[in-house]
Amino acid sequence: MSGRIYLSPPDVGPLEESYVLQALRSGWVAPLGPEVEAFEREIAERVGTGQALAVNSGTSALHLALLSLGAGPGTVVVAPTMTFVATANAAVYTGAEPVFVDCDQANGNMDVAALEEMLQRLSRAGETVAAVLVADMFGSCAEYDDLLPVCAAAGVPVVEDAAQALGATYHGRPAASFGRLGALSFNGNKIITTSGGGMLVSDDAALLARCRHLATQAREPVPHYEHADVGYNYRLSNLLAALGRAQLHRLDGMMRRRRLVRERYAKLFSTVPGVRLLADGDEGSNCWLTSIVVDPERSGWRAAELGTHLGAQDIETRPVWKPMHLQPVFAGCRAVITGAAENLFAQGLTLPSGSVLDDRRMARVVGAIEEFLDRRR
Ligand SMILES: *Cc1c(COP(=O)(O)O)cnc(C)c1O
Repeated sequence: MSGRIYLSPPDVGPLEESYVLQALRSGWVAPLGPEVEAFEREIAERVGTGQALAVNSGTSALHLALLSLGAGPGTVVVAPTMTFVATANAAVYTGAEPVFVDCDQANGNMDVAALEEMLQRLSRAGETVAAVLVADMFGSCAEYDDLLPVCAAAGVPVVEDAAQALGATYHGRPAASFGRLGALSFNGNKIITTSGGGMLVSDDAALLARCRHLATQAREPVPHYEHADVGYNYRLSNLLAALGRAQLHRLDGMMRRRRLVRERYAKLFSTVPGVRLLADGDEGSNCWLTSIVVDPERSGWRAAELGTHLGAQDIETRPVWKPMHLQPVFAGCRAVITGAAENLFAQGLTLPSGSVLDDRRMARVVGAIEEFLDRRR
């Protein structure tokens, strides 16, 4: 054993170092500057949207997106139950009421039929739905060909939470480009990182200008400090934007490495009964995280047992996200539940998936899994 193997650690090196050093020496040590502007242009180009706004987290991006669409007290925001808590928290920050929709067994993304049922319920109750938040889970895009028409028919805008999905595509189109607004995260565990940061993208210049205003303390364009709205301090540091630009240069290479990692797990588990990969076969995935789903009746063991075995060898694993409707903080929220998310939570395990997993570390993980499987045969 030689050091702990993490789920999805940052992958930074000499390129990042030189970009950050150059930004530091330029004197632009502020939440604005040429690196921020360049990073916004490069992300907009990568995801194919007209505009981008660099912010200090993915959560901030989601908060601004919902505010710009009028989410607030007296409105409802539809969110996935299978997601990281930040998706739902962003709705709560605005004063809107979050309601939850279950997921598809195959990939953990929003279940279209459940969404349709939720929108019908809300419409019958005469409620104002400010937005549907759709998350692209584990690096796989949601089923937009089905989801978007359902939202359009209900007249509700979509905010795409693409925090996990930068670089992923759906029928060739980049993640983050499917909603009225899309949110990206550059947290330390995401596919590219600025240590902490995010980006809001959109084709709607007016909407994004509104978000930019709110993100910069709602400062009016006059010489003195003038404020007609309550704003936020949500901009990204110029130094961190430089780090993000270096990471973006390496995105395709890091995605290739993560795909190799996923293919190694696919091969390893292909002969193991009762085990499948989440979102198996999604060619457009960025392979951010690879998770297995274990049916204990067929495999004879539980996902958590493998997690314990790997943990004892200093290899990090984690259950997939605990559904929002089971979280104490969201107890009592309305939800359309099929049981799929609860199933994935019970049977899923996320394995080390990072692009820093070199051949030696990968062999260590594979060896530890094989040892576990041999004991159960
Ligand atoms: C990481 C993540 C976020 C939050 O991004 P931060 O940059 O950590 O604030 C939001 N939604 C999802 C689905 C995420 O995975």
